[in-house]
Parts: sequence; C-alpha cells; structure tokens
Amino acid sequence: MKILVINSGSSSLKYQLINMANKQTLVKGVCERIGIDGLLSHKTHDNKLFKSDMKIYSHKDAFHIVAELLVDKKFGVIQNLNEIDAIGHRVVQGAGYFKEPVIITDDVLKKIEHLSPLAPLHNPAHVQAIRASQETFDKSIPQVAVFDTSFHQTIPKKAYMYGLPYEFYEKYKIRKYGFHGISHKYVSLRAAEIINKPLQSLKLISCHLGNGSSICAVNQGKSIETTMGLTPLDGVLMGTRSGSIDPSCITFLIENMGYTSKEIYELMNKRSGLLGISGISNDYRDIKHAADLGNERSKLAIDMLSYSIRKHIASCAVAMDGIDAIIFTGGIGENRNDLRKLVCDNLNVFGIKINNSLNNETIHGKEGIISSKDSRAIVCVIATNEELMVAKYTSKFVENHK
Ligand code: ADP
Repeated sequence: MKILVINSGSSSLKYQLINMANKQTLVKGVCERIGIDGLLSHKTHDNKLFKSDMKIYSHKDAFHIVAELLVDKKFGVIQNLNEIDAIGHRVVQGAGYFKEPVIITDDVLKKIEHLSPLAPLHNPAHVQAIRASQETFDKSIPQVAVFDTSFHQTIPKKAYMYGLPYEFYEKYKIRKYGFHGISHKYVSLRAAEIINKPLQSLKLISCHLGNGSSICAVNQGKSIETTMGLTPLDGVLMGTRSGSIDPSCITFLIENMGYTSKEIYELMNKRSGLLGISGISNDYRDIKHAADLGNERSKLAIDMLSYSIRKHIASCAVAMDGIDAIIFTGGIGENRNDLRKLVCDNLNVFGIKINNSLNNETIHGKEGIISSKDSRAIVCVIATNEELMVAKYTSKFVENHK
C-alpha cells in the first residue's frame, strides 16, 4: 500500500509518499512560500533531487506540481497516480469532533473549517490544501484526516477543564485540547520498542521541543496530561510563543496600554518566547551562539527554557505519580545535547542521571538511551516521524473500511 502524506501550512506544503510494505519513504518534498513567490524541493529515496524557485501561486498550484513530479520520468517514483492507495492529511485541530482519523467528506471539511478560531494558523490552511488535493487527485483515492488532538482525547476531565464558570465549557467548548498528538504517540510507541517493555506497562514523559513545544504524560500508552491547551500557545516557552503566562497580563495590556486583541495575539504568538526574551532569534542555534559570546538576554532565554521544561516534566510526573522514561524529540529535543543536559542535570528530585558521552553522541537523527545505568528513570532521544504515523493511521483506516 502506498500512502501520500500531506502536512500543510498557510504558505507551505510538505509531502511524503510512503510504501507501507517496508515503511520506506519513496519521495519527500516541500513547497514553500506558496502565494509569495515559490520554492520547491523534491528528493527521491535514491537521492535524486529536484529544486526550483518556480512560481507557486496557490495550494492548488502546489498540488499540480507535486502530482506531476510524482510520475515524472526522471524524478518520479510511480508510473501512475492511481498507484496511490490513500492520502493522509495531518490536521492540527479536531477538538471534540474527531476522536480518531476520518474519511474526508464535505461535512468533515466544514467541521475542520468551523474549528479555525481554535487553530487560526493551521486549520484554514488545511482546508485550502484538502480542497486542492480533492481537485487534483482522482475521487477513487480516499482522503483521510488525522488529527493532532485525537491522541489527547483520553485526558481526564479534571485535567482538561479550566477553572472558568462551567457554562464556558458547555456553551463555547473552552477546554484543554492539546496538540502534537501524532508525534507524542509515535515516539511513545518507539520508546517502548527501544526500552524493550510493553507500552501498557510504562509511564512516559514525551518532550516534543521544536519551534512549537509541548510535553505530554503518556500513561500506559494513553495521553493523560499535556502542556498545550485550547490553542498551541500554552505551556512551555517556545520559539516565538510565550507559553503559560498570568492571563492578567492580557487585561493589563488592554486596559492600560490600549492593546487590541489582534495585537495581543501577534505579541504572544509571534514576538514572544525565545525571540522576545533574547531579542535575537527564535532559533535555538542562534541564541546559543549569542549566549556563548556573552549575550546576557540569550543566556536568560536558555535558562528560562530549561527551567520551563523541568517544571512541566515535574507536573507530568505528578499526573502519573511516577516516571519510567523521559523522551526528547523535535528539532531541539533531537539535536541539542547541551539543552538536554541542562534539563536532566537538574532533575535530581526524580533521580535522573544522564551519560554525557551517550548524550553528546545522540544527535542528528540518531536514536537511543542517553541515561546512565544508575538513573532512576530512562532518558531517551527519538527522532519523531509524524508523516509515518499519519501514513500508519491512514492505511489502517482504509484497511478497516474496505
Ligand atoms: P517546528 O516546531 O517548526 O517543526 P523544529 O522541530 O524543526 O521546528 O525545531 C526547530 C528548532 O530546533 C530550532 O530552535 C533549531 O535551533 C533547532 N534545530 C533544528 N535542527 C537542528 C539541528 N540540526 N541542530 C541543532 N538544532 C536544530
């Protein structure tokens, strides 16, 4: 079975064609700067690379280019588009509507659109991309939506409710939804394999640390607590997002400084976090470089980030009343051994000890255990693969609904 996986953003479209028989990625590509100018990169499993700065006017345009490349004589990996058995779309916000993957119908598309206020950066882009995909590919190829929020549907009510009047939950569905569920699920499954114990027996803390970051308590394979909330703004300090702050900061800015809600949205989503604190960049690499040269605000940004991660790890440990393993994943989690050391060296309360040489070696996509033998809990690094997880969900769904 061959599954085309689509991960769409407002100006980008990432795609992978995966052969489920051997889990091989046949081709992987990204269309960027859609509607601005256009940039395309397409790389096959046998390292044939097509790069172009061709104009990409819309998502529909992008899908046409991708469809042509998939069957191209030189850069193609299939003879005919009908060799694609199904298309899986990663969708960020499914809220209470979608507890598992679904086949995309008009009604499903309407609901994804309806949820846009809860994921304004993501859901409108998904709707655009799904429509373009439906127009590009034959109707006989099923298109499935896989939601980032579904994995968190097992979080108990005491953890997903906010302390607002109950009617706000009933009327407006204001509650914690959580995100990065596809990644947290993938790395939990992989961690159980690496640790060589059944997932059902483990209390795992999954730390997905990238530009957007979230931490999740995975108890016996189920999410029971996570740091992101109604939207992906809550929790850990992120690249440009503030993470948790006292909500009164918002009313303070509105009442005393005349900020509008749009300005506050911009401020907290795009100008805060590592960027806001350092004043230098949202990228950890730039901040670390500046901190090493003595830049005080960059040092502070790194201190705040590691402290924020440790606090949230502790809250997840409390939610499960224990930790068997901590998983690091995402761009920072997979690559920044310096940050992992800062986090783990200060988790003595949980008896965590890492092995410095294992930690230093496990970067750039390498997976493995980095804790020392006498650590009370295992610490491991896993390269997340949301695309493979979407492909697995999609193929399983299609198999079950034949
Ligand atoms: P997103 O949340 O947008 O998917 P990523 O998971 O790619 O982001 O993470 C981006 C962060 O990871 C940046 O802060 C960057 O510094 C860091 N990062 C990504 N790749 C590497 C790498 N190869 N080496 C060091 N740091 C990296």
